[in-house]
Amino acid sequence: MKRGKIIKVSGPLVVAEGIPGIRMYDIVRVSEKRLIGEVIEIRGDRSWIQVYEETTGLGPGEPVETTGRPLSVELGPGLIEAIYDGIQRPLDAIAAEGGDRVTRGIEVPALPRDKKWEFTPHLSEGALVQPGDILGVVQETTLVEHKIMVPPGVEGRLVQIKAGAFTVEEIIAKVETKDGIQELALMQRWPVRRERPYGKKLAPTQPLTTGQRSIDTFFPVAQGGTAAIPGPFGSGKTVVQHQLAKWASADIIVYVGCGERGNEMTDVLNEFPRLKDPKSGEPLMKRTVLVANTSDMPVAAREASIYTGITIAEYFRDMGFSVAIMADSTSRWAEALREMSGRLEEMPGEEGYPAYLGSRLADFYERAGRVVCLGNPQREGSITAVGAVSPPGGDLSEPVTQATLRVVKVFWGLDSALAYRRHFPAINWLNSYSLYEDRLDEYYRREVGEEWLTLRNRAMRLLQEEAELEEIVRLVGVDALSDHDQLVLEIARSIREDFLHQNAFHEVDTYTSLTKQYKLLRLVMAFYGVGQRLLKEGVSLAKIRDLPIREEIGRAKYLPEDRLDGIDRLYDELMAYTGETLGGGEKDA
Ligand code: ADP
Repeated sequence: MKRGKIIKVSGPLVVAEGIPGIRMYDIVRVSEKRLIGEVIEIRGDRSWIQVYEETTGLGPGEPVETTGRPLSVELGPGLIEAIYDGIQRPLDAIAAEGGDRVTRGIEVPALPRDKKWEFTPHLSEGALVQPGDILGVVQETTLVEHKIMVPPGVEGRLVQIKAGAFTVEEIIAKVETKDGIQELALMQRWPVRRERPYGKKLAPTQPLTTGQRSIDTFFPVAQGGTAAIPGPFGSGKTVVQHQLAKWASADIIVYVGCGERGNEMTDVLNEFPRLKDPKSGEPLMKRTVLVANTSDMPVAAREASIYTGITIAEYFRDMGFSVAIMADSTSRWAEALREMSGRLEEMPGEEGYPAYLGSRLADFYERAGRVVCLGNPQREGSITAVGAVSPPGGDLSEPVTQATLRVVKVFWGLDSALAYRRHFPAINWLNSYSLYEDRLDEYYRREVGEEWLTLRNRAMRLLQEEAELEEIVRLVGVDALSDHDQLVLEIARSIREDFLHQNAFHEVDTYTSLTKQYKLLRLVMAFYGVGQRLLKEGVSLAKIRDLPIREEIGRAKYLPEDRLDGIDRLYDELMAYTGETLGGGEKDA
């Protein structure tokens, strides 16, 4: 076979010439070691190849050949519970073959080849099928029923379909298409840099509920939406991500880790498999796929990892699942992009990042969304994408954060100052936002309570007023404030302490349903209304502040989901207070 030759090696970038039949984004094999690389630029007879493996020891003259295929992932039973590197090599299988470090040129299939899966057909011979049609199912784990779909591009009459136990490569069905018989297996392939097809994109109308009050009430993300979360060290980013993985209303979790330091990714690899799915008590891994890059893996694999992750997410979306993908951190991914761009000697943009940083980030986030899936039976699926950014020194004006904020619609601003005060989750209510509020309003009204938006907006206004009043207090002291303003401070504190503050490690507090969030916030805000009225009726601020019900309001969040009537009772009790029963007349006599 004719092969090309290496003419230059620069870190993970190899320049080669004379590769017969080479095309952009082809996967190539570099040197006799058969390292995996991808063509990222072609000029004349020369190709620039990013190599996904360590290139030390490589030199000019060594052979390069193309596989003729773009970087693709294998999609089928066996994905769930897998832990992959950035180009979908299973980490455990690699470790078994090559010891702790990834051996170069190693070829391990992404989906196990020997394992048999019980396939139950849903269609029978003679049926007309089109892409996306569900042929049948495999119970992949206790938590995931894997739909086996007709792959994109295949259309015709089903001439054979089998039931029974099969490996991912064995033929389970045959379709007579206009170009002849197509044999189908449990597995299909898809090139990672291309979005998988769907029927139609839908506007997001439902929240991805997370059970986290600060998120669901104040900064909700839609199912099919996008969010960014910066993570200054120690601000509670890991806890937020674990809470999302456990409690978000998603069927499938895809976690893409681009490690900062080697051990950080090891933490994820150790911790994730220990997390439990709270609803079923099963390990969370039974509905999770992990894509992990430790920092000792080459940068190019890091660049590929978010595409590998989102393609896997799309495949489960196509089955009709709600999928949440978390990319942590996209800053490390962007650094990989910067390093490759530098080696390509491209014109650098801001802080050395390539000019296309923004469009690449947008390409990733735009693959999120809620869609009508292809094929029958009719179904909807969604991908919600949450990207962590790690701005150096917490400086949100740096290019990766800025480019991210231009595409995502939700920002959860984790704040080290709040974390330092032990206010968790440390989501700063003054700089966070959600652009889905208006879209989700109808859902909240219908499913939770008419006054949801009013309550939420009034609470947010109080928090903002608090910030302004605190400025005044700093200058002239709290005594200079009117009773009304002091009441505002009281209520804002109650919103922070009794509502926003949420202990991820408390059995009850770790998750709050939307109904409970609504009742809690209504209770806290009712105190504001009642307090204002009592002030008017002549009750002193001190007395209002010391009402014993205050403590009970503070404990309301610990009432379990099946005892929410306790919150209603508190509310009724509170509303019944009058100046008369409290001896209002005696005010400051
Ligand atoms: P990061 O990943 O940002 O460095 P972590 O997520 O590990 O930070 O959080 C640091 C510590 O903060 C945790 O070990 C925990 O003690 C505390 N913490 C963070 N979030 C919460 C929370 N929601 N509830 C209770 N404690 C929290």
